[in-house]
Amino acid sequence: MQLIEKAPAKINLSLDALYQHTDGEFEWQMIMTSIDLADYVQITLQDSPQIEVRTSKGYLPEDKRNLAYQAAQLLRHHFDIKTGAIIEIDKHIPVAAGLGGGSSDAAAVLRGLNQLWHLGLTKAELAHIGLSIDSDVPYCVYSETALVTGKGDQIQPLGDLPNFWMVVVKPEVSVSTPRILHALNCDQITDRPQTDRLLAGIQQQDAQQMTAAMANVLTPITNQRYPQIDYLMQRLTAFGAEKAQMSGSGPTVFGICRQYSRAQRIYNSMSGFCREVYLVQPLKNKNH
Ligand code: ATP
Repeated sequence: MQLIEKAPAKINLSLDALYQHTDGEFEWQMIMTSIDLADYVQITLQDSPQIEVRTSKGYLPEDKRNLAYQAAQLLRHHFDIKTGAIIEIDKHIPVAAGLGGGSSDAAAVLRGLNQLWHLGLTKAELAHIGLSIDSDVPYCVYSETALVTGKGDQIQPLGDLPNFWMVVVKPEVSVSTPRILHALNCDQITDRPQTDRLLAGIQQQDAQQMTAAMANVLTPITNQRYPQIDYLMQRLTAFGAEKAQMSGSGPTVFGICRQYSRAQRIYNSMSGFCREVYLVQPLKNKNH
């Protein structure tokens, strides 16, 4: 038996860290959405007990370091499954980019094996299991616009966003999320998102209110190491984006605009000097 799961990239419309728990983990308050840039994860059941991972990118690990492998093993052990699976990942999401590619692959494996092994788990149960893999996995199990709180494990779906386009730009550097988080001090954050206003903007389908309330508290930390982030955000707004922001711990930045023709112009302008540029939209719930 076999199926293919779509594993979309995630974008942080906002990212705030309220405080640090005693175990060192952060209390997050984030509004995340998923975009039409996705990996495709094919899962084939096999009688032998092995989990085998293959990816379309030669430099990615295919052993237990791969988050998709970890997801499959976690479910296998949790539910004492004796058989195995072959997981083939057709990779499109840039790696170590702040787009949650590995987490989305892991979440796709959780959703896919839940079906193929007839486990009957709810999304909330899959999200709970996935948290031990990475803090973005619970969100990725849902992969729909949501308020994400706690250590990444509290997911509250918000319904569809108002219509807008996003120009997503991945600079040619890779960022290590743990290194960025190590430098984060909640008492020193100056520019926080206005989460309540952002939630109201989404509820009222008011893109202008939404963009005015967005922010990512990790931006100054990543930008200090990679100043091209600020530069690219400035270019996005200079070319006409209504808002430019970094996603996750970076380095990917994105510009938002409501008009397709303007988004296309920004896309063309950014493509003139950046290799990895995508013109995308947030997924609507019916796309899932
Ligand atoms: P996050 O912000 O959640 O850390 P990211 O988008 O910045 O995510 P990923 O693309 O998930 O980063 O990659 C981070 C690291 O995870 C890379 O060093 C990569 O080798 C490893 N990794 C493990 N499994 C995968 C996978 N299936 N796809 C991509 N990277 C993976």
